[in-house]
Amino acid sequence: MKSYKIALIKGDGIGPEIVDEAVKVLDAVASCSGFNFTYEDLLMGGCAYDITGDPLPQETITKSLQSDAVLFGAIGGEKWDNLPREKRPESGLLRFRKELGVYANLRPAVVYDELANASSLKPEVVRGVDLMVVRELIGGIYFGEPKGRDEERGWNTMVYSREEIKRIAHQAFQIAMNRSKRVCSIDKANVLDVSQLWRETVEEVAKEYPEVELTHMYVDNAAMQLIRDPKQFDVMLTGNIFGDILSDEASMLSGSIGLLPSASVGAKIGVYEPIHGSAPDIAGQGIANPIATIASASMMLRFALGENEAADKIDNAIKKALSEGYRTQDLAQFDAKEICSTSEMGSIIANYIER
Ligand code: NAD
Repeated sequence: MKSYKIALIKGDGIGPEIVDEAVKVLDAVASCSGFNFTYEDLLMGGCAYDITGDPLPQETITKSLQSDAVLFGAIGGEKWDNLPREKRPESGLLRFRKELGVYANLRPAVVYDELANASSLKPEVVRGVDLMVVRELIGGIYFGEPKGRDEERGWNTMVYSREEIKRIAHQAFQIAMNRSKRVCSIDKANVLDVSQLWRETVEEVAKEYPEVELTHMYVDNAAMQLIRDPKQFDVMLTGNIFGDILSDEASMLSGSIGLLPSASVGAKIGVYEPIHGSAPDIAGQGIANPIATIASASMMLRFALGENEAADKIDNAIKKALSEGYRTQDLAQFDAKEICSTSEMGSIIANYIER
């Protein structure tokens, strides 16, 4: 029987609670799909600092690289906020992404029909939204040199090489090939030289995907269009800072941060994680929504393991649980028939899969 090795990084706050539910669902889907998983628990974040003095122990990097994929919960919390920057949980995560070379961040924003009224936008605007932001993750202005500050000035540099643009553009086009075959590339080519190179390079890559329709949009317009008519988008291809902002904007279309998964992929191992943080305010209460993490496990099956049917089973089971009216606390006011705990939601989704 085929067996996949999954590195589990549960992290801090609600991390362990939500990852446990994703494991429950993964085991359920494995049991009816002819493969199995072995898991290895690895430390990262505040819990890693408490035990080892380092938020990202070397063992976590080494063992993650030996696995087929990483399923990640969340890290961070007030307890560690006053540590020196390199000891903070968030530094561990940034270093981890860099070590794994995950240059593409994939963030789907899907509005479940049953939750169209959970969005702050009108239900008719968001119902049917199903888009994917493909964001470059380890280049651009967050990493460009020179950067610095003195008393009177601060400066950062937005820089992209043709190669960096090419590899993220290929990701976007390959993803579009399995979706509606539309890519909208977001830039600021009317003002920025780096965006002119971005646009020129994306057009070059597009020639290799003649079936995919490519359009371009300035980032300010894209921010507006996402609110005005989000259904016009399928794959949105962006650089690091624009993607950071637009993917957070897109995530709010769906109503709860507890629903949205993400994947960070590159040449080596992919990291699959919910978009939210460690939610210390609700940790340990059994009320966190595990759906974002369960949906991240589904992305892991699809993008890392090529188990598309199994991923579909998870996605359908999530939809079924929501359409039957099961809700965790965060969605309690939206047509809930039954309020369930974190663990109950995991079990309901796992049961739908097994049935
Ligand atoms: P957060 O995402 O943890 O929480 C924001 C709000 O959303 C909170 O009210 C929280 O209760 C709620 N929430 C989040 N996930 C939920 C879920 N699954 N179900 C129900 N409600 C949920 O953001 P924050 O409060 O700004 O940050 C808390 C900690 O998380 C900080 O230390 C921050 O640095 C860290 N953080 C980590 C990551 C990561 O691990 N990738 C990402 C963002 C923030």
